[in-house]
Amino acid sequence: MLDEVRALLILQDRDRRLLALAKDLEKLPVDEARAKSKLAGDEAAVKNAHDTLLAAELKVKKIELDTETRRTTIKRLKVQQFETRKNDEYQAFNHEIIRYEKEIDGFETLELQAMEAVDRCRESHHAAKAALVHTQKLIKEDLDSIAQRQQHMLAEQAEVAAERASLATRVPGSALPLYERLMRTKAGLAVAPMADSRCGGCHMKVIASTAIKAQAGLELAQCENCGRILFMAD
Ligand SMILES: [Zn+2]
Repeated sequence: MLDEVRALLILQDRDRRLLALAKDLEKLPVDEARAKSKLAGDEAAVKNAHDTLLAAELKVKKIELDTETRRTTIKRLKVQQFETRKNDEYQAFNHEIIRYEKEIDGFETLELQAMEAVDRCRESHHAAKAALVHTQKLIKEDLDSIAQRQQHMLAEQAEVAAERASLATRVPGSALPLYERLMRTKAGLAVAPMADSRCGGCHMKVIASTAIKAQAGLELAQCENCGRILFMAD
């Protein structure tokens, strides 16, 4: 194998590592957004449970208010009843008072049910908040792990990039610009193995003279279809 090709293969290995790292780094914000989106559902559940609790509490207050209104009315009716001298009017007030008292009895039953509903809502709200705290903990762990991965990848990226720069200065011959151009245009594969006279990059059969050139390893051989630098696979 040509020294030039051997040097380019080592360079290509580092370049491919850098491409893979860049791709992985690009994915991190997506992972981060996915982790955070889990929180939104739990936050909505807490808000929902809280709204339901407030509504249930409001219902109790309304029943209390309605009861209070009836009590005031009964007081007023009793004063009027006390002041009347006619028996039929007295009986009519009595009738009214009993009707309102029955309503109050009904409200008391409703209030008990409404208060039980408040208790249930309070429990649901409590459970939703506990679930949110649990999710927050998991997400913090996720985000910490993502940040740690990012740190490792950035460190490796810097290390490989420095090594790559040094390797590039030590490539013999004049093929470096050709390699750089192929690296950019050929999906990160500039130097491809040749097997059974086929280019390992585009998989086309190369012509006999190219196959012989790649086998001999005395001068640079390029696939006449895609332009990739070819070497003989062991
Ligand atoms: Zn090819």
